[in-house]
Amino acid sequence: MITLSIAGLLSFLLGYEGEAAAARLLRPPGALPEAEFLAACLRYGQCAQVCPQQAIQIGRGDKGLTIGTPYIEPRSSACDLCLDCSKVCTSKALRTVEKEKVKMGTAVINQDRCLAWQGDECKVCYASCPFYNRAITLAEHKKPVVNPDVCVGCGICEHVCIVTPATITVKAGR
Ligand code: SF4
Ligand code: SF4
Ligand code: SF4
Repeated sequence: MITLSIAGLLSFLLGYEGEAAAARLLRPPGALPEAEFLAACLRYGQCAQVCPQQAIQIGRGDKGLTIGTPYIEPRSSACDLCLDCSKVCTSKALRTVEKEKVKMGTAVINQDRCLAWQGDECKVCYASCPFYNRAITLAEHKKPVVNPDVCVGCGICEHVCIVTPATITVKAGR
């Protein structure tokens, strides 16, 4: 017979939900791993209130246990890595981290739709990345390539991409 304590069940559910949510929600800088984040976040929205970019949105209940938690949709508004949100997070669901050590996710280029990869002149994402010539470098024929070891997942590239829908997008998680 399988026995599961309430704490174990909650942990299981948060972990399960956490993994699912991690695949779709981009958390603000310094967020704990998804399951721990969901357990720690007090859902009072202070991070969203202080964000100068108004980049932080709050889950409205259509995403399961992620209701009330902060996330970012870079195409609407990207994170400029000011790190103000982590400074006001009293629960430490968002930890203070150095800018270079943020890891919200990783940018991925759709080479089939990217203008530069299709032979046109475009360096918009490359020029806009805060880690200039490091997180995005240019390969032969000026094709942009993401360096996942440097990219922090801020989403500025996704926000500025001149193709719609964006041909560079941030995949959440580490
Ligand atoms: S680091 Fe700054 S810009 Fe980015 S989500 Fe936090 S408050 Fe907003
Ligand atoms: S590649 Fe994009 S997501 Fe990564 S650091 Fe540069 S602008 Fe931010
Ligand atoms: S901005 Fe968009 S279209 Fe232009 S190079 Fe970057 S990913 Fe490609």
